[in-house]
Amino acid sequence: MGIEFEEELSSDLSRCIGCGGCNIPCPLFNVDQIESSGMRSRIKILSMLSKGKVELTEGILRHVFACANCGVCNDYCPVGLRPFDLLVRARGSFIDMGYVPLVTVDIRNSFRRVGTPIGDELIKGSWLPPDFQPKSNSEILFFAGCWMHKAIEVALDTMKLLRKISGDVTTIGPTEPCSGALLYILGEKDLADDSKRNLEGLLSELNPKRVVSGCSLTARIYSDIDFINLSSYILDAIRSEKIKFGKMKGKDIILPIPSCGRDNSLLEILKNLNGMKILEAPEWLCCDCGFTLIYRTDRNLFSRWVQRVLSLAEELRANHIVIEDVGCYAMITETMQTKGRLKGIKISHISGFIMELLK
Ligand code: SF4
Ligand code: SF4
Repeated sequence: MGIEFEEELSSDLSRCIGCGGCNIPCPLFNVDQIESSGMRSRIKILSMLSKGKVELTEGILRHVFACANCGVCNDYCPVGLRPFDLLVRARGSFIDMGYVPLVTVDIRNSFRRVGTPIGDELIKGSWLPPDFQPKSNSEILFFAGCWMHKAIEVALDTMKLLRKISGDVTTIGPTEPCSGALLYILGEKDLADDSKRNLEGLLSELNPKRVVSGCSLTARIYSDIDFINLSSYILDAIRSEKIKFGKMKGKDIILPIPSCGRDNSLLEILKNLNGMKILEAPEWLCCDCGFTLIYRTDRNLFSRWVQRVLSLAEELRANHIVIEDVGCYAMITETMQTKGRLKGIKISHISGFIMELLK
């Protein structure tokens, strides 16, 4: 079965020189260096499809959709193809042509049933008082994002931290819609647009001065909505001395897991902490809600990625892993079925970590 992509996409795909630069920063490729896990194989198969050299199969669809969606490979292509963006465009074309890969069915179904791609069992706002109502015209509105509602301890720490920074903080609570960012990168543009519009409508009713996003993917994907990522907001608060740390206790050697994207906020926050050693994360080490598809459909691969991270932490003699994105924190702690420590290494989300230091 031949696939006709739009001309511009086919032409971009044909410019790939097969150098493998996009494999270098790929989190999945770095699990075990298997060619089929990296981006080069995805671009190659799309290019062959567009030239009619291979038939479309469910296996190919799965291959094109089942990546960790970090987007880091965009910056590693010597001919400027932005391979992850190409992948997202190709996914959108498949959906438009009516090819919905089986690997995304659970995510779509959860979204249609309960309004979140995270899973049917998610109950939003269970960390808030039962009579909670969002407040209008607040200084800060905390857009928690779907994963935050699963990691209740992180949600509570984050609200406490935001209230230390600004006295006037609200959130949406049980009716908070998903931003649609995950659906957008899975090529589901219509579903994503509906969800985003829904969120924007609610925000315009509540009219906060600023929206702080607990979901890094939302802040990464939607450059047109004026959200500030949680860690950037914390960094601003440190720089403007709205939060100050006392003398540091202990001798932490920290391996940071940043969110994916160009934002360096986590590292910048950690650099402000005297007395702690901050290790440099390799380019493949990032994680956010984009990993959800792998997490939900290939738990074995996700576990192997976690093991790879833990081995790296051991090699570097880290005794503490600090995670920027709540989705990453929730997926890691759920997979390992433990919170607090893994193999003797402490695991914290940035909000809990900062709250601990402020005690
Ligand atoms: S988006 Fe990330 S996980 Fe997917 S191929 Fe690119 S680097 Fe790998
Ligand atoms: S880095 Fe660019 S040119 Fe090289 S294999 Fe990847 S997409 Fe192709």
